Amino acid sequence: MKEIRKSKGNWTQFLSGVPAKDYVFQAAPYEEQIKKAAEMIRNSDMVLIGAGAGASAAAGLTYSGTRFTDNFDEFIEKYGSANMTDMYAAGFYPFPTPEAKWGYWSKHSIINRFVPPALPLYQMIYQIVQKKDHFVLTTNVDHQFWKAGFTDERIFATQGDYGMIQCEKGCHQKIYDADKLFHQMDQARRDCTVPSYMVPACPVCGGNMAMYLRSDQYFVEDEHWHEAAKRYGYFRERINNKKAVLLELGVGFNTPVIIRFPFEKMMREYENLSLIRLNLNDAVIPESFGKRAIGINADMEKTIIDLCKEFG
Ligand SMILES: [Zn+2]
Repeated sequence: MKEIRKSKGNWTQFLSGVPAKDYVFQAAPYEEQIKKAAEMIRNSDMVLIGAGAGASAAAGLTYSGTRFTDNFDEFIEKYGSANMTDMYAAGFYPFPTPEAKWGYWSKHSIINRFVPPALPLYQMIYQIVQKKDHFVLTTNVDHQFWKAGFTDERIFATQGDYGMIQCEKGCHQKIYDADKLFHQMDQARRDCTVPSYMVPACPVCGGNMAMYLRSDQYFVEDEHWHEAAKRYGYFRERINNKKAVLLELGVGFNTPVIIRFPFEKMMREYENLSLIRLNLNDAVIPESFGKRAIGINADMEKTIIDLCKEFG
């Protein structure tokens, strides 16, 4: 959850050792940038996608506005509009009981993970890369890449999944599918609270369960997580001597250490790589990357639609 919280700083404070003057917004006209980006992808053998919170927000999974007020009116009334400003804030509310905690999180999960179908933005991303050797590294936890058609072997979701739960203390390295449980909770919820008998307990230590989200040191990295990490590592090794594009989607400066900074490091180390950075506000790129990088500062849904058109 940490990575989707609004950052208190701005990008100039997070420069990964790069002098601030090296970061530039590109001056080329938008249409030209789209054409260049399409060409980069066309000429590449491999595409490594890195997707952050901005991708899902652009796809429509916004955490504020009517998506929040329409679905969480009951919670806003119960806990107060000062605390319940949006889904980020609501997720950090200190719910007084486990029944209240699961009352909220079952709803949050259903709204963001189970109800939404594959969203057009993600489907278009799949169309763009499906014929290339591709891999997805993402901090998003809403399962959109799977829904859009990407295969499990080509996805590494490092921060968890809204549809799973784990032992709150991570006492054993296993995660549990909460699809059925959350839908039962959704039916039984009264006054924002679920019945006590529905509150899950850890099958090993008997303690509390938690959402499967990286929020502290107890985050569970199970066998599947490690296998995905290994496949990502293998893909990264292989792109080092191929024509490859790093396609970065909506990764800001909240958790830059998982995608944004590693991508920049790879760019510095391997001349064969190109970078396409799509971001609503933070599409700045190091000037030293020259023609190998394109940063498009625009609404990503529009950018992806225009990019898709280039591929017919
Ligand atoms: Zn446990």
